[in-house]
Amino acid sequence: MNEPLSASPARPRSRRLALWGALVALLVVAQSLLVYLTANYERVRAQEQVEAAATAAAADVRQTLSRQQQSLQALQWNDPGAAPWRAEAASLLHARRELMRVERRDVAMRVVEAVDSPYQGPVFGRIAREAIEVEAQLACTGAQRLSAPTFSRSYFVPMSDGLGLEMIDLCIPVQRAGRADGWVVATLALTRLLEESVGAETARTHELSFIESDGARLARTGVRRGGGVFVAERIIDLPGQSLQLRVDSTRGSPSLIPNLAVALVLGLSLALAVVVVLLVRDVRRRAAAEARLAETLAFRKAMEDSLVTGLRARDLNGRITHVNPAFCEMVGFSADELMAPATPPYWPPELADEYARRQSVRLGGAPTVPGRSVQEARSGFETIFMRRNGERFPVLIFEAPLVDGQGRHAGWMSSVLDLSAQRRAEELSRQQQERLQATARLATVGEMASLLSHELNQPLAAIASYAAGSLNLLEPGAPADAETMPMLRQAAQRIAEQAERAGRVIKSVHDFVRRREQAREALRADVLFDAVMPLVRLQARKSGTRIELELPEPPPRVVCDRTMVEQVLLNLTRNGIQAMEGLTEPAQRVLTLKAWQTHPRWVSFSVIDRGPGIADDVAARLFTPFFTTRSEGMGLGLSLCRTVIEQHGGALDFVNLAGIGGGRGTEFRFTLPADSGDRAARAADRTAEAHG
Ligand code: ADP
Repeated sequence: MNEPLSASPARPRSRRLALWGALVALLVVAQSLLVYLTANYERVRAQEQVEAAATAAAADVRQTLSRQQQSLQALQWNDPGAAPWRAEAASLLHARRELMRVERRDVAMRVVEAVDSPYQGPVFGRIAREAIEVEAQLACTGAQRLSAPTFSRSYFVPMSDGLGLEMIDLCIPVQRAGRADGWVVATLALTRLLEESVGAETARTHELSFIESDGARLARTGVRRGGGVFVAERIIDLPGQSLQLRVDSTRGSPSLIPNLAVALVLGLSLALAVVVVLLVRDVRRRAAAEARLAETLAFRKAMEDSLVTGLRARDLNGRITHVNPAFCEMVGFSADELMAPATPPYWPPELADEYARRQSVRLGGAPTVPGRSVQEARSGFETIFMRRNGERFPVLIFEAPLVDGQGRHAGWMSSVLDLSAQRRAEELSRQQQERLQATARLATVGEMASLLSHELNQPLAAIASYAAGSLNLLEPGAPADAETMPMLRQAAQRIAEQAERAGRVIKSVHDFVRRREQAREALRADVLFDAVMPLVRLQARKSGTRIELELPEPPPRVVCDRTMVEQVLLNLTRNGIQAMEGLTEPAQRVLTLKAWQTHPRWVSFSVIDRGPGIADDVAARLFTPFFTTRSEGMGLGLSLCRTVIEQHGGALDFVNLAGIGGGRGTEFRFTLPADSGDRAARAADRTAEAHG
């Protein structure tokens, strides 16, 4: 799938061109062949028609001649001298227009009777019959030899109208009582023969002619001129003679578009050419779209490859179908290794069963409400994966349904974030924060060292004096009366009380310095105040400051890291007390501590002093680490306080009370999340679960 889509555009281009060239060449060849075949077919058909016409015409001529012969043979039975012969010959001439003249000759070939065609003047008007008798005599000689009617060669007879006719003689020997008794000679005009024999239809579309062997035309009929392209010739064999019939169709060679068939072929070819052009355009558009697609794909791939977020696609069975390089790098397995097995290799073996169960639950639930699945995908979930080297690491997974082009739910797409670096950074920052806080706590205690010594001095002095008194009572010279024992017991009791008091002071400091557990817990605000109060009072007593505590009944409950918030309270009270020292009349030195619920989700805490307030230049840098105006200060107090409060989701700020209601001083206020009822209920549930 990672193959480049357009590795060498030059080669496919030349190949495409070659293919198109071949296609166009094939098309041209196919079209030319089609046109040629169609034209050829036309030609063959025309030739066939002419051949058929020629055969029919030859048959017609033959039939006319044979009928002629029969009629003429019937003539010989009449007496040649008799008028009936002439009458019969005349009717024959009348019936057959091709017959020009019928002669009755004696044995010596002399003309005894002769009747001419009624349609034309006498044939031998211009030239006497005797002058052109050779053909007839030759025919009769042949007829005598064969004892059968015989045709003569054709000969030209000029007519009185200036034109002439090609004639042919038919010589029929007459037998009477078994011996030769002269001849009947009929003269036929070849042109008329053609006209009478050939049908009108053939004559309309063909030129028919009798020709000589050298091609010279003897007689013709039909249209005036044939095309000279489709010609057929037939030999009409007659007894003693043969005629050559030539039929010439009026049709010329077929033109390029001779008829509908060729027009159709051409039209189709044109349509084909148009289709090819359209195809070319379509292919070009496709190629352009493909190129765009390849570009987009390459861009997407580059984008996907450059991502640091791991991407993983799974089908509906939970099998991995795609991973990006970042994911492979994260888990240390190749794409093939990840896609092959049913159980992902990055599942830690000890958690595999749980993961499989979780996956089946998740894969089972199809995304019915798109909004909901998006919501789930956005929130993400944390889990543990395993690298190839066995290292377990935390990941944050955002999973969304994968919907294909048809809108079908085809699987799941997850983006996977490696949290190990973030976790390391968080851990480091937490440790640093802790160290800083510990340092700050130590600094606070250091500052309080003198206070501590003062505070411890009292019980120690008391212990010392009780001890001294007790020792005096136990002196060897001292009277050991009945009062001594109760006094000693009382002194010992006082010593124990004072020692306990000193111990309490030391313990409160010890507790404060050593306490470091991070857990958040739900507790009442007064519990927080009570915890810091011994140390606050310690400080307050030294400067003669009064502490006022304002808490509603019942006190609001908060969820917080107790140690941290206690330190915040201690820092703020210490700052307030210090601000009032020296600058405020001892009678006016009052530090007010307040806590109240400002919102269903928030509880506000206030530490109010009657000090000089905070100057603007100081206010600007108040929360900057290491900013301090005091020679022994570290300047970490307020910056740490703000960090702690913000870690709880709250805010820490201050208000200068100077000018507000004529008062003076500063109010430091911070908020902490309130312990709502269901949170308490959840905590209760958790406890129940833990115990169950
Ligand atoms: P430090 O107490 O070590 O100086 P802080 O961060 O607690 O560090 O305080 C920084 C500075 O802010 C103090 O030096 C002081 O000048 C000023 N400041 C803090 N709280 C008060 C207050 N209640 N009234 C006046 N100035 C204050």
